[in-house]
Amino acid sequence: MDNILVMLSGGIDSTWVLLYYLKNTEIPIYTHHIILRCDVERRFHQETKATNSVLEWMNKEYPGRIVKNYNSNWWMNSNVSGKDIDLSLFIGATVASRLPGDTAVATGRNLEDDGIDGAAAANKVWKSFAETYDGLVWETLKPGKDLHKSEIIDQLPEDLLELTWSCRSSSTDTQCGKCHACLLNKGELIK
Ligand SMILES: [Zn+2]
Repeated sequence: MDNILVMLSGGIDSTWVLLYYLKNTEIPIYTHHIILRCDVERRFHQETKATNSVLEWMNKEYPGRIVKNYNSNWWMNSNVSGKDIDLSLFIGATVASRLPGDTAVATGRNLEDDGIDGAAAANKVWKSFAETYDGLVWETLKPGKDLHKSEIIDQLPEDLLELTWSCRSSSTDTQCGKCHACLLNKGELIK
């Protein structure tokens, strides 16, 4: 593996993945953020803001380690599009195929969202994308797949955690505390 491409949403899991590879490897890191405009979840402004803040934090702590961050704009229509992990893998495969050498794509999956069914579906999707591109490393990297959300949260420095954004329904600067993503974080925080 020559590079790692981290799919960075600005949320807790992908932020942890980026920190994990900066901390534990010397491999050149690329990041990609999908500006995901969605008809039912208005979250892209906050996610992009969080991503930029997280990148600023990482560049201060690990200067020169992130080679480049890419962004792309996508419109996700809930009636026709698949899951956001599918989109993330598709864009990851596309970007990775254009980087020099073998690039592995890292996503922020944890024990809760990478259960047996989820992992199998994501693997099938990934295989079909990987087969489309020559020279792409087959497997995706999911360093958090055996960790609970609470363990991931515990491992993030507090000031970094505060920069992340998980909420799926707030369009203000405050996370709603009621949506699925907020409840998962809160529940695990209480544990
Ligand atoms: Zn929320």
